[in-house]
Amino acid sequence: MRVRVAINGFGTIGKRVADAVAKQPDMELVGVAKTRPSYEARRALEKGYSLYVTGQGKPEDFSSVGLSVAGTIQDLLRNVDIVVDAAPDKIGRENRKLYEAAGLRAIFQGGEKADVADASFNALANYAACRGKRMLRVVSCNTTGIARAAAVLRERWGVDHWEVTLVRRAADPAETKKGPINGIMPTFHLPSHHGPDVQTILPDLHIATTAVVVPTTLMHVHVNHVRLTRAPKDTAEVLDAFRGTPRFRVFAPWEHVDGTPQVMEYARDRGLGFNDMMENVLWDEGFRLDGRDAYFFQAIHQESIVVPENVDAIRASLEMEPDGRASIAKTDRALGLTRA
Ligand code: NAD
Repeated sequence: MRVRVAINGFGTIGKRVADAVAKQPDMELVGVAKTRPSYEARRALEKGYSLYVTGQGKPEDFSSVGLSVAGTIQDLLRNVDIVVDAAPDKIGRENRKLYEAAGLRAIFQGGEKADVADASFNALANYAACRGKRMLRVVSCNTTGIARAAAVLRERWGVDHWEVTLVRRAADPAETKKGPINGIMPTFHLPSHHGPDVQTILPDLHIATTAVVVPTTLMHVHVNHVRLTRAPKDTAEVLDAFRGTPRFRVFAPWEHVDGTPQVMEYARDRGLGFNDMMENVLWDEGFRLDGRDAYFFQAIHQESIVVPENVDAIRASLEMEPDGRASIAKTDRALGLTRA
């Protein structure tokens, strides 16, 4: 028995989650919903996905340009067990009414406030606590990256305090209306909202975050200083822990990955999905241990890091897999992140 999944909102995140769901052995992608015709709508049909009309969209807008639609979002919701909402920020909360009316479980994204759902979700950090919840929210890309790293460090050495500065990308590659295209823009909300967002998953994590926005579209980079509770034996012990955890990629010096351009070139070489980099990226050279103090950089591919998390959130909500690590392994195998 495969669970039947709908994707409402077929942009940057929605189209990736759709492909990821379609690859899972225990899930069936019933359809994707879009507000208006576009190259992405055409690609959905080319991939064999059933296309539905959502939001203020009209079926005739699609049929007039030769795109065939299978019905409206209400039609789609009648035929699924769960919906992944990947609409723009704050629209998910509006859409929640549709899901409630259809008596459906739903997965929301990080652009919604935490109270849109029963719990915020991260597969490594709190899968067990989210099992069986009807509404889950996969936290934003930056929060996902911090929560994953926190799951690794807390479990082994404990965390007394975490300071992180987020160097944020200005826009996704296809977004031409956002900026800056020159300049470094401090986020004057101090500390930034990311720390409290991580705490929606790990409430007792002592963390303070600050952020700047810079003119790049490739990835975010986090500059971390973590005071651990117990000192690790050495640097290798910590890096081995990251290397041994799913959804982490640690680059060695001989790989000559000097920064985010080479990370994304590696992703293009690898050629998964949309040439995505769904793992947290760390560097051997970008890690230093001084007693209980760990300093490290990590890079986060904003467009894709939440994709495997959405798949695991579906399994958690529907209680398809009791063990988070087993769900992660299943997801990552289907996505090609790990070998069989
Ligand atoms: P996007 O703008 O690329 O895609 C959103 C899609 O939803 C578009 O196709 C849009 O036409 C459609 N839409 C508009 N109104 C709708 C409605 N009423 N119902 C359903 N769909 C509607 O946005 P995105 O970047 O994919 O972001 C989606 C969510 O994921 C947001 O909550 C965002 O904060 C979150 N998120 C985005 C990123 C990122 O870097 N892009 C990373 C992590 C999380």
